[in-house]
Amino acid sequence: MKKKEIPYPVITIDGTTASGKSTVAQEIAKALGFTYFNTGALYRAVTWRILSLGYDVHDEEKVVEACSRLKLRCAIQKIDSFYKATVILDERVPDEKTDLRSAEVNAAVSIVASYARIREWLLPFQRELAYQTPLVVEGRDMGSVVFPESPYKFFLDAQLEEREKRREKQGEKDDVEKRDRLDQSRSSAPLLCPADAVRLDTTKLSIEKVVDKILDVLWKKGLPITKSKA
Ligand code: C5P
Repeated sequence: MKKKEIPYPVITIDGTTASGKSTVAQEIAKALGFTYFNTGALYRAVTWRILSLGYDVHDEEKVVEACSRLKLRCAIQKIDSFYKATVILDERVPDEKTDLRSAEVNAAVSIVASYARIREWLLPFQRELAYQTPLVVEGRDMGSVVFPESPYKFFLDAQLEEREKRREKQGEKDDVEKRDRLDQSRSSAPLLCPADAVRLDTTKLSIEKVVDKILDVLWKKGLPITKSKA
């Protein structure tokens, strides 16, 4: 089915776990005045709710059925100096650290995210935001599935050892390699670098350097941004 045309620019930033997506996407959103949307938070919020309701995430039928009863919405909020899309589930905003990034959610999220019916349910929800505001979206399938028409696609990666170090520094219990393997091998919207995305290896690059490179590409592609930021 042809997708309805989106009136605003959407910058997609996909990549492997701990490749620097979140920090970079937030900096790009700040620099451009766009809204930042972390779609990982969406999958995490759903997983957190399913776990807190006592479901076994391996039971696909029950998970899908339970999700059909969840009330999900998104609010665009100004936080500090930038706009961020916040996920609200059953009228609760899950806490970023204690709920969304707990060891339990880290271990279960890629299982829930592998279910095609969960991804189909969340797809229109993600596209809906793009009719309201210019976006910087971060995830695994932003450029390949959710916003394939975007001319502004990026894919970040870094060596596994470096990514594991980054996670450890953040004090999180997270099996980076396992999550990537699950995300890359699922049949529905697997993690991959779209053919038309700009791929960046962030192993040896500072956040500032990655942000500069992305802004430079955006400027060269004709996105109206001031040259001093590029
Ligand atoms: O980006 P983050 O690490 O928070 O994402 C958590 C998990 O959510 C990923 O490992 C992946 O399983 C899932 N995810 C996804 N598609 C997205 C964003 C996240 O499958 N667009």
